[in-house]
Amino acid sequence: MADKKKEHLKTLIIGSGPAGLSAALYAARAQLEPLVLSGQEPGGQVSITHIVENYPGFPEGIGGPEMVQLFQKQAERFGARVEFDSATEVDFSKRPYKVTSYNGEYTADTVIISTGASPRNLQIPGEKEFTGRGVSYCGTCDGFFFKDKEVVVVGGGDSAMEEGTFLTRFANKVTVVHRRDELRASAILQKRAMENPKMEFIWDTEIETISGNGKVDSVALKNVKSGEAREFETDGVFIFIGHLPNTEIFKDQLAMDDAGYLKVNRYMETDKPGVFAAGEVADPHFRQVVTSAGMGAAAAIQATRFLEAEA
Ligand code: NAP
Repeated sequence: MADKKKEHLKTLIIGSGPAGLSAALYAARAQLEPLVLSGQEPGGQVSITHIVENYPGFPEGIGGPEMVQLFQKQAERFGARVEFDSATEVDFSKRPYKVTSYNGEYTADTVIISTGASPRNLQIPGEKEFTGRGVSYCGTCDGFFFKDKEVVVVGGGDSAMEEGTFLTRFANKVTVVHRRDELRASAILQKRAMENPKMEFIWDTEIETISGNGKVDSVALKNVKSGEAREFETDGVFIFIGHLPNTEIFKDQLAMDDAGYLKVNRYMETDKPGVFAAGEVADPHFRQVVTSAGMGAAAAIQATRFLEAEA
């Protein structure tokens, strides 16, 4: 195997979603010559979002993949570099900080972490086995495969309503299975889903098992109030039950909350000087492209000030 590339950076950015690319734009314009390690999903979650309708400046909405391409192009225009690579290990015990990736061994004066979050699993029998064969965590990515079929959506939040509504473009019927009898999704998304003639709701119900033969053909449902159990035929199961932060490699290095989100103050500072975090990895609450982009910009501005104060 070829030797890993070695490089020292003023600012290394881990993750290339809206937070990472906005940080890259600001850091590049401040002459910090940032390198962005893209992670395995360049552009992050928005890159698999069909359309973003709530980012200011795009009154007609903009496709997720197109949006992250524009973010990247703008950062690169000012000298940011984006590499398809993932950080595998960090050492924040002393400065300069060390970050190891698949292709490189980096030292950095400042690090901005924007590794985002990944979809949570139900952790039930059949889920893993049928992932990619009927079980999916992304309507935008996989909806097309369910043309004229019937699918189940799990969850009662914004993601479940938004993605469920999107899936009605393909599927004949979308049945939302929710563990309570009320949704937590915002009013507008609830209304859109409830008024969609292709959507149905099964309340107070959990999925216990996903079954099939090569691909999904049914789920076992259990009513959590009555205890009643039944089989429900379906061609697909789309799971939208929240996210887990991608913070595995930062364990024992940075302060986190109980759910594993990085703790930052209002300046995006973690508990290590010169290490900042932005976007969903540090924000379980807002999770919007616009808030993540704002956090990324703030982190880069603060990294710039941090380095200026040291100079
Ligand atoms: P969420 O709001 O945390 O909702 C998760 C849903 O999954 C909840 O309804 C929850 O049920 C259910 N759930 C959790 N664990 C479960 C389990 N083990 N089995 C069955 N159901 C389970 O997550 P989200 O929908 O991904 O949204 C997260 C954030 O992103 C929110 O702040 C949301 O506003 C934002 N978001 C916004 C947009 C938009 O503005 N267009 C789109 C997507 C997401 P309970 O309700 O019973 O807890």
